[in-house]
Amino acid sequence: MSLPQILPFTKRLMSDSLSIGDTAIDATAGNGHDTLFLASLVGEKGKVYSFDIQETAIINTRERLEKEQITDRVTLIHDSHDKIEQYCKDDRPKAAIFNLGYLPGSNKEVTTTGKTTVKAIQQLLTIMPVKGTIVLVVYHGHEEGKQEKDQLLAYIRNLSHEHVLVAKYEFMNHKNDAPFIVALEKRREGDFL
Ligand code: SAM
Repeated sequence: MSLPQILPFTKRLMSDSLSIGDTAIDATAGNGHDTLFLASLVGEKGKVYSFDIQETAIINTRERLEKEQITDRVTLIHDSHDKIEQYCKDDRPKAAIFNLGYLPGSNKEVTTTGKTTVKAIQQLLTIMPVKGTIVLVVYHGHEEGKQEKDQLLAYIRNLSHEHVLVAKYEFMNHKNDAPFIVALEKRREGDFL
């Protein structure tokens, strides 16, 4: 047995959470790798909403989807993920992924922040059905990433376990602030603010 690395394990969590026809959310489109993967999991009858605040990311994601001829089920949203509720509340998303940090190969000053990430999670927990899953890959090697990690962990640690299961997957003996996964499973309706 070998322990799965961070990205393969993220994919496994997503594929265990989604079935054909479901709605999924990519909260950080970036270069579109996760959007494409989610689109393949939900199939032609499913839906993917993919958010990014950078136009370059939306363009890169659209190009990736066009290349793979898989644009039909994806809605690209050039806006912040802390408005998820506004765009997706009628669709009851079954799963969402966040790849935190900045767009690889781009301006490192535009990065996810603790405040908007927590707001997006609160909205997702509200609109998701019970058993809905949120997976976050947390990159905390940069300055904003450290603050975001602290804000995120402070919020999720205080969620009642009766309402949300929270798990962390981390290689504890890796050096250099290696990324880790946080996974949330909604267990019961509640107030997540
Ligand atoms: N998942 C992506 C992929 O497959 O290529 C990589 C995502 S990258 C690490 C993080 C992305 O989050 C950047 O493209 C950045 O513009 C975006 N971002 C930052 N703040 C955001 C926000 N409030 N709402 C949506 N996207 C945001």
